[in-house]
Amino acid sequence: MTVSTSVRAATLVAAASRALAVAGIFDTHGHISVREGDVAYVNSHSASRIAIRLEEVAAVRLADGEPIERTPPSELPIHLEIYRARADVGAVAHFHALYATALAVAGKPLVAAFNAGAPFGREVPVYDDPALVRDAARGRRLAGVLGKGRAALLRGHGAVVVGDDLPTCVAMSLQLEESARRLWLTYAIGEPRRFTDQEIEHVTSGLTEPRVIRKIWIDALERARLAGALGDIDVETLV
Ligand SMILES: [Zn+2]
Repeated sequence: MTVSTSVRAATLVAAASRALAVAGIFDTHGHISVREGDVAYVNSHSASRIAIRLEEVAAVRLADGEPIERTPPSELPIHLEIYRARADVGAVAHFHALYATALAVAGKPLVAAFNAGAPFGREVPVYDDPALVRDAARGRRLAGVLGKGRAALLRGHGAVVVGDDLPTCVAMSLQLEESARRLWLTYAIGEPRRFTDQEIEHVTSGLTEPRVIRKIWIDALERARLAGALGDIDVETLV
């Protein structure tokens, strides 16, 4: 690894990718990035999501999207345009979420009706273009649909989730799919009873407490470790 790559950032990206793959959030595809100054660290294009090594994390200059090291994923504009639009965002995840995407395709809104869904507000917005986000124009449109929120769905494609930092982004990615899975069951038997704005606010403040984010992050890492997917990565260095 050369000096231009932050070992800490690469370790976070590799660990998060493996943990999200073990959790069934990442499949063959999916990528997560972390912003460090003017650079974004992200899964390289071809690395296995469940076995990515530190040496397979790509580094990209945020100003112009030029790769510093290795080849980033083809949907890099998702990350670049969200970072450009949102100074508060420190990490971005994109994945082809099974349940959340199925709801978007069926036209069933991903509403806040379970605690896990509260941090995403009344309804997760849907970006209505199934094409891969491989250019800046699509990236900007997606960032516009995301707005100030924590997540957006991409119809027939997947989801994007953001966080102040990488553990928050991982925790929210898990929460989004958890909410979708419960809503899928709910829609099969009836209509979800939506949270009020007050309920959304109250539940969100509890779920986004640093100690709760840390708990979800540690659990995701430990599940990956027990599945044998963390290998060379020491959980203790990440929490
Ligand atoms: Zn995609």
